[in-house]
Amino acid sequence: MAVLDQLTSQEAMDLENKYGAHNYHPLPVVLNKGEGVYVWDVEGKKYYDFLSAYSAVNQGHCHPKIVNAMIDQAETLTLTSRAFYNDKLGRYEKMAAEFFNYDKLLPMNTGAEAVETALKICRKWAYEVKGIKENEAQIIVCKNNFHGRTTTIISFSNDPVARKNFGPYTSGFIKIEYDNINALEDALKNNSNIAGFLVEPIQGEAGVYVPSEGYLAKAKALCEKYGVLFIADEVQTGIARTGRLLATCGNCSCDDKNCSGTPEVKADVLILGKALSGGAYPVSAVLANDAIMSVIKPGNHGSTFGGNPIAAAVGIAALEVVRDEELADNAYKLGALFRSELNTYIATSNIVNAVRGKGLLNAILINDTEESDTAWNICLALRDNGLLAKPTHGNIIRFAPPLVMNKEQLLDCTRIIIKTLKQFE
Ligand SMILES: *Cc1c(COP(=O)(O)O)cnc(C)c1O
Repeated sequence: MAVLDQLTSQEAMDLENKYGAHNYHPLPVVLNKGEGVYVWDVEGKKYYDFLSAYSAVNQGHCHPKIVNAMIDQAETLTLTSRAFYNDKLGRYEKMAAEFFNYDKLLPMNTGAEAVETALKICRKWAYEVKGIKENEAQIIVCKNNFHGRTTTIISFSNDPVARKNFGPYTSGFIKIEYDNINALEDALKNNSNIAGFLVEPIQGEAGVYVPSEGYLAKAKALCEKYGVLFIADEVQTGIARTGRLLATCGNCSCDDKNCSGTPEVKADVLILGKALSGGAYPVSAVLANDAIMSVIKPGNHGSTFGGNPIAAAVGIAALEVVRDEELADNAYKLGALFRSELNTYIATSNIVNAVRGKGLLNAILINDTEESDTAWNICLALRDNGLLAKPTHGNIIRFAPPLVMNKEQLLDCTRIIIKTLKQFE
């Protein structure tokens, strides 16, 4: 087989299976093209993408503005390392810091690296500003969290598949129930070694768990009361996905479509990734104000690729698209429409129990057990009907299309989803 021959789907899957580590279980579909809300497989079949690479492709596949920024920069300068300055990084840092309303940004590449960075900043702040005795700091995390795949991060996961036989684990974490404000206060009181509280504003991988109204604001208030950092992992929920620029904006009533003013909850440390590049390139970041970020000094932390000129150029373009195309507003409106269309169907359905989510981060709960393969089989049928989604558990399917979708496309998609679900009634 010559390198440039077009592979069939089967040939492409066989290659991955034979030569690639089996660390994923992909839905059997082989894609070779994407544009906006659509992707195509190697046989030319067109699909709606309802995963958006786990919300990395909020701006749509191959957005021309982002692609052009990447091409222009790739032809000019790709990597200098941070041993030297480059002429793009500062501009990107200024734009993103102002966009999200923080003093400073620390650039990394992947979400997990940004989470690790936030944990390091939090610990250093705890020793040098809060005055916790060295090596005694503890960070509170939530059960059923997903923050990435590094050794430290899986140390505080409770997913046995992600965790088992990867020990010994990193210590210094306390796990509490998500969306339980009393559990948070219990963990905070009488423990002066708590440095921070790391939380997802909506638990995405766990199955799109939306916390109860006011939870994040109360949690933030408790963090202030006990002098610990509120660290928001918005890698999946951030950048317009949930109908606001950030999910921590909650239900704030400001009518600025691209609200970056005073959100309902302002995290002390904000973690972003995924859609920070619109899916074109790995770009992640931690944002914080000077009082916190200033604990990081030369040599404390870094990354060869973090803040490279391509990442910076892509990051600027990706945020401009979010702002100029009013993606938060679109996600808000289409999300409400999506849930209302689904709810009309669910009222008479035996196979779907509920739809939940915010903006265009939603999930349906299938009327079957977590161990069942019903959600998987529904996703195979959705694929056959021209729409790609992936279960997060045996009985939960996440629906997260690119935010550049229009109303006609969304209604076409709800028709496909409902038609498919009816096959399983
Ligand atoms: C995807 C994700 C991460 C990890 O990002 P990677 O780029 O895969 O390392 C961290 N936190 C959340 C909430 C995520 O959804």
